[in-house]
Amino acid sequence: SRMMAGFGLTFQAVYVPDFPATLTAIAEGRAEVAVLNRVFGALNADRAGLVDTGIIFNPIEIRYIGSPALAIPLLDTLDRYLARYKHQPDSVYHRSLEHWLGTVRRAALPVWVVWVLGGVGAALLLAVGGVGLLRRQIRLRTRELVEEVNERRRAEWQLNRMAFYDSLTGLPNRALFRERLLTGAEVGGRDWHMALLFLDLDRFKAINDSYGHGVGDELIQAVARRFKCCLREGDTLSRMGGDEFTVIIPGIRDPDSLGRLARRLIDCCGEVFHLAGRELYCSVSIGIALYPEDARDLDDLIRHADAAMYQAKARGGGHYCFYSRDITQRVCQRLALEADLHRALRREELDLHYQPLVQLNGGRVVGLEALLRWQHPTRGNIPPDEFIPVAEETGLIVVLGEWVLIRACREVARLRRYHCQELRLMVNVSSRQFCSERFVATVAAALADCGLPAACLELEITEGVFLEDHLDIHRVLAELRRLGVTVAIDDFGTGYSCLSYLKRLPIDVLKIDRSFVSDITSNEEGAQIAATIIQMAHTFGLQVVAEGIETASQAAYLGRRGCDLGQGYHFARPLPVDQLGTVLGDWQPQSRQVMG
Ligand code: C2E
Ligand code: CA
Ligand code: CA
Repeated sequence: SRMMAGFGLTFQAVYVPDFPATLTAIAEGRAEVAVLNRVFGALNADRAGLVDTGIIFNPIEIRYIGSPALAIPLLDTLDRYLARYKHQPDSVYHRSLEHWLGTVRRAALPVWVVWVLGGVGAALLLAVGGVGLLRRQIRLRTRELVEEVNERRRAEWQLNRMAFYDSLTGLPNRALFRERLLTGAEVGGRDWHMALLFLDLDRFKAINDSYGHGVGDELIQAVARRFKCCLREGDTLSRMGGDEFTVIIPGIRDPDSLGRLARRLIDCCGEVFHLAGRELYCSVSIGIALYPEDARDLDDLIRHADAAMYQAKARGGGHYCFYSRDITQRVCQRLALEADLHRALRREELDLHYQPLVQLNGGRVVGLEALLRWQHPTRGNIPPDEFIPVAEETGLIVVLGEWVLIRACREVARLRRYHCQELRLMVNVSSRQFCSERFVATVAAALADCGLPAACLELEITEGVFLEDHLDIHRVLAELRRLGVTVAIDDFGTGYSCLSYLKRLPIDVLKIDRSFVSDITSNEEGAQIAATIIQMAHTFGLQVVAEGIETASQAAYLGRRGCDLGQGYHFARPLPVDQLGTVLGDWQPQSRQVMG
């Protein structure tokens, strides 16, 4: 009815019980046009003197539901079989035609009948009896209808894209990823591995925050293009959301090649990006797990690739890591370490050592950095690099950090009374601790507890703090400044070194990471970088400390470049508090010539 109205025609419908009855109705002059099943029309229209208009109300679509990865091979297979059946007079194809249509003149059978088999009844044919009047209009309308159908197809295609593809990068999304993973696993045989790579950009959040989401989005797109270039046809690169990607690699014969691929992905991501008129750098961490050897099922596989990715991140970003049972083992060890750490706090197995900070120009000790030490009853000395991350993950760092603050403030207050009145105290603060609600209050309480002036306390935070989502860093820093406490950026240059925050935030001191210091004497570039950092920090009005100074020539170079303070084995190792007396005595002015 709608279609006729579309032609601007009024008509009267004559309803009949079956297809043959339409022919009778036309023969008897009760109707002029018949709407028929296409098969019936093809077989009978001629005989009844009807003309095919070619109008199809519902285009026949045979839909197969299956994994998109399989769709093309599946359809190819169907086509191949169909072609073969058509040439075999006894094939199921001809037998079913005969069954449904009676004896058919095979050669004359139109190709589309094949399709009808899949959807008999879905299609209708409009056959027009002798009346030629309508035909022209109908032709015109046919064209419009075809347009409409195409339009609908486009809309469907669009919906399909939205459901299965990521709008930013055009890559498969999480839903399609799972689908492909499933297919990959099903296709696999005995000597067939499938690899799953988990990719996560390092420090993406920082880029997003400082340059804006527009640049962040562009970076994601650029990274996706680069990844794509490293992969082969059959591999599936998906975007899981945010800065997370996955790659499914089906049919791996040689797992070693995966290491090379991961390296390629890391290298191509590491090259400079030119975005929004800026040069940006970005790195990626990759975890790899294999199916079926690393996982019983696909959820396991995903979990394991993810765990491997975290392992890679723990190496500082820009690395890849294969899943291994070691990782599970390491997780268990960590749990044990956590339990031990709780006990250590109660039983006083923890202690603080102090490493002097020395004026590079003059050699005077001006401060002490408190460094945690753990004497484990059975495992001996456990280095802080090993247990602090565990404490951070479990949240124990908050209590641990409070203990360090109170203890260090007390001990340094005492040292100031007996040795050196101007001594400053540096305390390391982890991101998680810095973010805790009561952090500023704890600092104030620790100072009040022993009467140490706030100006003597310097808190060392790392650039990681700037990556904390939920933290109002401006507020915390402002409160600390109000308290009179100073703040240093520790390990500068290793993290995400964005200079803009140095300008924006109330930060007083910058500590150059020891990796740059060790580079000073080994290569020209390292020396240049250190010099640049010093100069830049001074421009922002920051004091500069170089850590990890091990040789006189490093100290001399840094001194010449105007670095304010130094710290390292060259001057003194971290020492227990009762051994500091002599060091502090030794380190009075002109006791040692530091400048080279
Ligand atoms: P950091 O803050 O960078 O501390 C300096 C580290 O460099 C210390 O390692 C120190 O012993 C070492 N070091 C000092 N001079 C030299 C040198 O000349 N050469 C070399 N190669 N190394 C030198 P340590 O004590 O093992 O501490 C490692 C890390 O653990 C610290 O790095 C810090 O991030 C963390 N840490 C230590 N104590 C605490 C704490 O109380 N709280 C928190 N949150 N972290 C802490
Ligand atoms: Ca430090
Ligand atoms: Ca450091």
